[in-house]
Amino acid sequence: MIYLDYQATTPVAPEVDEAMEPWVAKKFANPHSPSRWGHEAEAAIEVARKRVERAIGLKGGSVAFTGTATEAINWALKGTVGRAKQRGAGHRNRLVTIATEHAAVLDSCEFLASLGLDLTIIPVKRDGIVDLDLLEETLDDRVLIVAAMLVNNEIGVLQPIAEIAAMAHDVGSLMLCDAVQGLGRLTIPDGPDLVAVSAHKIHGPKGIGALWMRKGAEPATFIHGGGQERGMRSGTLSPQLCVGFGAAAKLAHERCERDYDHVHRLWAAATHALGSDWTINGSVSHRYFGNLNIRRDGVDAARVLAELRDIAFSLGSACASGSGRPSHVLRAIGLDYREARSSIRLGFGRYTTRDELVEACGRIAAAAKSQERLLA
Ligand code: PLP
Repeated sequence: MIYLDYQATTPVAPEVDEAMEPWVAKKFANPHSPSRWGHEAEAAIEVARKRVERAIGLKGGSVAFTGTATEAINWALKGTVGRAKQRGAGHRNRLVTIATEHAAVLDSCEFLASLGLDLTIIPVKRDGIVDLDLLEETLDDRVLIVAAMLVNNEIGVLQPIAEIAAMAHDVGSLMLCDAVQGLGRLTIPDGPDLVAVSAHKIHGPKGIGALWMRKGAEPATFIHGGGQERGMRSGTLSPQLCVGFGAAAKLAHERCERDYDHVHRLWAAATHALGSDWTINGSVSHRYFGNLNIRRDGVDAARVLAELRDIAFSLGSACASGSGRPSHVLRAIGLDYREARSSIRLGFGRYTTRDELVEACGRIAAAAKSQERLLA
């Protein structure tokens, strides 16, 4: 099998697997219990926390572990609204986000809008990048939080996070950055007050994410209970998952440049192997190069996927594909239904070899050509 679905999830690094092993069964103590074994688990979690904070790389804040990045995003948005209410700042009742955000952001915002908050969704330009003039025009002193992602999971395009954060701060708003697809791959620009990340996108285990919070910008408690994570997110932490996330973050931090160069070379090889009949969806320059979302007139991407069962790739976001709905991101950049249906997402990274990627691209191009011949 050739695995080209790195945006959906990444293979677990051998170093991560090894680091987690003792914590799966042998070291089973509750990290919040006062025994010697409990303290050992707690210490391992604190080492992991520092590693995740170092990989995020921002100063003046700290990380709380969550179950997923989806939870971190829900917490950031709903908890920020909760905090404003607790502090009597209810006049700040506007949420602003971007049309191409992940469902975790868009659906949380829609939920908050159903409770009476005022939601503004800013469109993107054809290259997938938010229109900063439009954003600036919409911001006022009623905005509570602006949410924007660093790297788009479907088309790989980068949003100008530092500029968005500066604009949000100019009107006294907070800024949430969904950095799930950027962590360990790119530097997270300074500016956000809240940053959501996930272990399984950086060769760590599934089922653990984190929310980085600038000091003073902590959202209200989201999960109440035993008071773990400084009373902000209750629930017994999993040493195994935290240690795995820490090991993955350390590796990603150390290998960032090497991985980036590798991905650049893979991008060049893939675009060369596909040939000139394909159009790249989203900006070609402002992007993460491990995400290649392409389309070709007349291709039924679902049929290509069905034909090439031993190549794992995607039709859009892993969440939207299978739903039968065309991707909201592809629609937001102006593609019509036909163009969206002819789009394929290839995701590659640290463990992808040039040879397997070139082979997969050749077979995808051949499958698309044979569809054309059948239609002619
Ligand atoms: N945000 C982005 C950009 C993503 O790609 C994903 C996962 O697909 C998420 C958020 C949700 O992450 P998790 O799987 O940890 O809930």
